[in-house]
Amino acid sequence: MRAVVYRGANDLRLETVPVPRIRPDELLVKVAACGVCPTDIKKIQYGTLPPPRIFGHETAGTIAQVGARVKGFRAGARVALHHHLPCLECHACRHRAFAQCAQYKRTGITAGFEPAGGGYAEYVRVMSFVLPGVVKIPPANGFLEGAMLEPVNTVLKAVNRLALLRGDYILVMGQGPIGLMFTRLLALRGMNVAASDLLADRLKLAGTFGARRTLRADDRDFSEKILRLTRGRGLDAAVVAVPSDEAVRQAQTLVRGGGQVLLFAHTRRGAEADLDLAAVCVDEKDLMGSYSSDVTLQTEAARLVFARRLDVRRLITHRFPLERAGEAIQLAASPAAESLKIVVAPGDRAFEP
Ligand SMILES: [Zn+2]
Ligand SMILES: [Zn+2]
Repeated sequence: MRAVVYRGANDLRLETVPVPRIRPDELLVKVAACGVCPTDIKKIQYGTLPPPRIFGHETAGTIAQVGARVKGFRAGARVALHHHLPCLECHACRHRAFAQCAQYKRTGITAGFEPAGGGYAEYVRVMSFVLPGVVKIPPANGFLEGAMLEPVNTVLKAVNRLALLRGDYILVMGQGPIGLMFTRLLALRGMNVAASDLLADRLKLAGTFGARRTLRADDRDFSEKILRLTRGRGLDAAVVAVPSDEAVRQAQTLVRGGGQVLLFAHTRRGAEADLDLAAVCVDEKDLMGSYSSDVTLQTEAARLVFARRLDVRRLITHRFPLERAGEAIQLAASPAAESLKIVVAPGDRAFEP
C-alpha cells in the first residue's frame, strides 16, 4: 500500500509499505480521511521523534478486516478512530488526568514502524486497547465529520475544565479550526464569546460560529474594548488557542480576579515566558492547560458533530490526496487567510455523503 513516511525533520516521502497484518483481537481499517493536526506538524517540522514513522491520527475509514476474537464490529462499517485510550484504572485515571495515564501515552493505531497514528496511509491496524475508542459514523454523516471527532473531543475536554456560569464572558484568542470549535462549543453553553484573530475572514466566520463580539488581535484599543464589553469587570476566562506568549500575558491581564486562563496551543517543550506570578497567587487567576482527549466525553463529542450542532464541515477548507500529504502539511503549518482545517484523503469515497 502507499504511505507517507516521515524520514526525518521536514522529510516526508511517499513510499510503498506492506499492508499491516492484524492480530485476532484487532481491526484493519481502510483510511478514507485523516485531518492534519498541529501536533503532528510540530513533530515533523522539528524532527522531535526518531524516524521512520507514519503520522496522522484524526482518522476515519471503513473496516476492512475484523480479527477473529473481536466482537461488535463488522467489515464494511464506517468508523472514526481514537489513537490514545486511557486504562481508566491507574492513579492518573482515577484523578481523571487521562492524558497522563501510561496506557494513554501509547499509540494504538499504526500503518507500520513505531506506532504514530498511521492515518497518512491506505490502511491502519487498530490495536485491541483502542477498540473502545472506535465510533460508528451514522449513515447521514461523512468520513470528514468522523475524522473531526478527535479534535472536537480535545476542545470539549478543555471547555469542561473551565468553571463557567451561563452568560459569562470568555475570550477565545485565535480563530483557526480549534479556536472556532471553542467559540462554537462555548456559545452553545450560553457564554458570551469574544473572538480575536489577525485575519478578518476568520473573525467573520467566528461570528457565524456564535461569537457575540469579534476583535482584531492587533487592535490598539483591544484591552479597553474588552473592559467595556465586560462592564469593567474583566473576562471570566480566556482561551489561548495561539502559541503566542504575548497573548498569554494579555489574557492574564484581561481576566478578572479568580478568572481562568487556559492554554491550548503551547505544546513546545522548553518554552518559557515572563508572567506576573502575583496575578496567580494574589489575584487568584488560574493559569491552566488542557491536552488531548477524554474518552468519557466521546458520546457527547459524537453527538455534537453528527447532529451538526458543531458543523465541522464548515471548518474543512482543503482536501489533498495521499501523494500530496507533504503539501497539505506545509499549508497547515503556514495557515493562509482562506485555509482552516486541512484533510488528507487516501480514499476516493471520503467526501460522501
Ligand atoms: Zn490532533
Ligand atoms: Zn490510566
